[in-house]
Formats: sequence, structure tokens, C-alpha cells
Amino acid sequence: MDDVASLAAPYAEPAPPMLDGTLPSGASVNVAIIGAGFSGTLLALHLLRRMPEHATVALIERNNQFGRGPAYSSGNASHLLNVPAGKMSAFQGQPGHFLEWLHSLPEAELCGMAPGPGTFVPRTVFGRYVRHLINQELKVPGRRDQLKLVRGDVVDISEEPGRLILALDRGRTITADRAVLAIGNFPPAAPPVADPAFYDDARYKPDPWAADALADLDPDAPVLLIGTGLTTIDTIISLLDQHHRGPITALSRRGLLPHRHAPAGTVPPPETDRFPTRVNDLARALRRNSARQMQAGGTWQSAIDEIRPVTMELWQGMSLADRQRFLRHLRPWWDTHRHRVSGPVADRIAQARESGQLRIRAGRILHYHHEHPDGLVRVGFRPRFSREIDHATAARVVNCAGPDADYSRIRDPLVRTLLGRGLVRPDPLCLGLDVTANCALTDRDGAISRRLFAVGPVTKGAFWEMTAVPDIRHQAETLAGQLAVMVKPR
Ligand SMILES: Cc1cc2nc3c(=O)[nH]c(=O)nc-3n(C[C@H](O)[C@H](O)[C@H](O)COP(=O)(O)OP(=O)(O)OC[C@H]3O[C@@H](n4cnc5c(N)ncnc54)[C@H](O)[C@@H]3O)c2cc1C
Repeated sequence: MDDVASLAAPYAEPAPPMLDGTLPSGASVNVAIIGAGFSGTLLALHLLRRMPEHATVALIERNNQFGRGPAYSSGNASHLLNVPAGKMSAFQGQPGHFLEWLHSLPEAELCGMAPGPGTFVPRTVFGRYVRHLINQELKVPGRRDQLKLVRGDVVDISEEPGRLILALDRGRTITADRAVLAIGNFPPAAPPVADPAFYDDARYKPDPWAADALADLDPDAPVLLIGTGLTTIDTIISLLDQHHRGPITALSRRGLLPHRHAPAGTVPPPETDRFPTRVNDLARALRRNSARQMQAGGTWQSAIDEIRPVTMELWQGMSLADRQRFLRHLRPWWDTHRHRVSGPVADRIAQARESGQLRIRAGRILHYHHEHPDGLVRVGFRPRFSREIDHATAARVVNCAGPDADYSRIRDPLVRTLLGRGLVRPDPLCLGLDVTANCALTDRDGAISRRLFAVGPVTKGAFWEMTAVPDIRHQAETLAGQLAVMVKPR
């Protein structure tokens, strides 16, 4: 059995409600991890390997898919990882782990792939890998007593002397010595417009990862995608896969699409391992390095890749003003060069543009006219560098603008209650929640929590590069080491 969700047995009713087959409501654990996407799952695995035998971890997930999160639960096999398989091992110390697992799969499950380090594997396959890791861990003697997989939605956390009380849906609770927010990515924010009533309309889809985002769509109807980043690329691929024939417009402020990965090749060694922390100097250094790489027979992509191992250090060395400058001026450029797409995906996007089906526009949405008898919505936008207003017509508008990281406006119940209680605060750049370099959350007044931590994209404000697997796996391992030494005998 390779299905962790099925391990979380049906809830026992009536009271006392069971969190899973063995953990009653009100039970107490050493560490509670909220969210079982990649970050929470990896943290749990590392904790189990480091904590004393008697210690317990509750891994709590509101969806029925443990180990996947929105990134790896896509059922569409054309949604490929945007990082090659050779860099997707869950364990930093075992770089070939994912590839070895891929090679252990029966041929029939490889869908004709002959995976190598440079292969871009379907994301759903990676999700299966993470679930496989949990299942393997549960086979270790004693682990089923230590790791509790809990299906539930954490809606509140309160602090009492010496412990935290986690409130879950249906009135259930868990008591924990420490809790870690591994709550990951939230759906995109809607662009501000004068009359936001259209955002309640069935033709507007606020969550690009929801199952109904492209459901029941006339294949000849025009579609508007808000955003031109990786989520938009996914959505275009899904539309093409469902044989959509109608025009697709993708609109973002700058109209920049992610670049493609270069074919794997030898990367000339970096000339320097020191990069400036002032934004202007950094931009100059990147331009210089990319010219040098190209002269040496490499690619500009290599210049980005060589800065990757030190991006976090650079970010932490920057003043707040420089971080703000980076976000204002360099971010769109950085995002499209850093978060790239695989060759096969880039080819399909290029084809759709060449055929005229896909148009990429740069501009800002101003309003929606959605009362037209033809059932279409007319979206008014101001093209970049223009004073005129242009229009796009659509039967469906899907918001693909990328995960919303501004916690001051995220409507999630847990986020709202934590902010309301003052237990957490948004980071000053609105990239996530405010954490220390040790991933401890800070409260409304800046006091560092001894009990509440965060892992993964939630911590982007402090680490910047905390989106992809190679960074998260390192952070999860480090945090597990710290938490394990805090575990006290019960
Ligand atoms: C569409 C997409 C594609 C991506 N592709 C790649 C890729 O190819 N390679 C790569 O390296 N990175 C990729 N990423 C980056 C991705 O952010 C990370 O790789 C990783 O998946 C983040 O994991 P996470 O666990 O932190 O967050 P998430 O995956 O968002 O998981 C958070 C989990 O927490 C749960 N949760 C939230 N709140 C609660 C609550 N209150 N109670 C209970 N459960 C809760 C959610 O249901 C969710 O399952 C992609 C991201 C997205 C969105």
C-alpha cells in the first residue's frame, strides 16, 4: 500500500472524536506540524530520526493527500517539475535519492521515461515519492507510535503556560510542546479594481489549483489568465491538454514569461564566490557573469545557477532598504530567469504563441464589464507604457498571479486567528511571516517564540530563496536538529 491518506483511518464517532486510529482528541504530542506538504513532511521525517524514542510528532493535514501540497497533487502528467530530477532528492546528504527511487519503479509506471539527472519528471510522480518516504518511515519499528497522521484543519492556536493548544475542526484539540507552521502556499490575491463584484462571479476562478478552474469550459471560448509566471504556464498546458481551441490571453504588469532551462552542460566554475549585497552592484555582477559564462561556451542560465548556493546568505546580508529595492526593481527579472521551465513545456508555449492562440500582454487590469448578453466578460486594462485603455474578452478569467504571500490580507482562518492573537506578525516585506534565522516566529511586538516555528515558503521574508525543494530540504533538516534537542521527557 502506497497511500498514506488511507492510513488516517475514518474518524470514530461519536465523542470522543478520534484524530486518527490511535490519537484521541485532547491528546498531547511533543511537536505538532501543521501542513503535510513537502516542508511539513520532510520536517517530520527528520525529526523522527533525531528525537528520543519516546517522543511524538503529529503531522496534521486538512486535505486527504499527505506529502503532496498543491505543487505535487496535480493529476496532469504534463505538469512537469521545474527542477531537474538530479536536484530533487528529499535529502541533501543523498543527492541521488530521488533518481534511485525513480529507477526502482516498474517500467510500466515510468510512462516511457528513462529518467536521468536532467529529466523533468511529472510533478505527480514527485508527490508519490514523498508519500513513499512517509510509508517507508512508518515501517520502522515503533514509528507508528511516534508519528501520528492527523486529517484535520487547524483553526486556532493558543498558548498556555508550558504548552500550546491547537484547535481543529469539529471541536477537536491537540496539545503540543511546540508547533511548526508548514502551511505553504496560498491562492493568489485578486488584482485591485474599482468594482470588485466580478470576483464573486462564477466566470472568475480565484484558485488556479482548484479542480474546477478549467471545468465545463467551451473549447472555443476565449480565456483570460491573470499573471504570466509558472502558474500561468501550468494553466496554459492544462488548457492545451484539454484541447482548448479558443484564444488564450495572459496578462501581467510586465508581460514577462519564465525562461527555459538550458540543456544540461558543463558549467564553467564561478570566478568569484563573493557577490555584492547592494542591489545595483549585484545586477552589474550578474550581467558581467552571464557575459563571461557565454564567452566561455556556457549559458546565462549558468550565471544564475552559480549564485544559487549563496542567495540566502546574500539576502541576509542586504539592508532592508536594499531588499526593498530588489523587490521593486529586480524581482520580476529575477523570477523569470531563476524559476525556469523545462524544454518540452517551453516548446509547447512557443508553439501556442506562434499559432496566434496565445497572446501575452503587459498591463494593469482596471475593470470588468460582465453584464453582456453574450455571456462574456470584457476586461479593461491599461497596457504598459500607454495612456489608452485596451480590452480582452473572456468566458473565463483564471487568477494565476502566483501564491499570495501577504499575510495581512490572507483570509485563511488559522492565519487570521494567529494574527488576531498577536502570536505572529507579517514580515516587513510582506513575503511571509516574521521569523528569526532559527525559524522561530516572532509575535506582534517582536518577541521571539520558544514554542512556535515555521518552515518552507512561510519564511521567505527571512530567507528569500525558500520556495524550491533544494532549499526547503536543507531548512527542514536544520530545524529538525534544533527542535529535537528541545524535546523533554514526558
Ligand atoms: C504549482 C506549483 C508548482 C511547483 N513546482 C515546483 C517544482 O517543480 N520544484 C520545486 O522545487 N518546487 C516547486 N514548487 C515550490 C513549492 O512551493 C515547494 O516545492 C513545496 O511544495 C512547498 O511545500 P510546503 O509544504 O511548504 O507548502 P504546500 O505544498 O503549500 O503545503 C502546505 C500544506 O499545508 C496544509 N495546510 C495549510 N493550512 C493548514 C491548516 N490550518 N491545517 C491543516 N493543514 C493546513 C495545506 O493543505 C497544504 O497541504 C511549486 C509550487 C507550486 C505552487
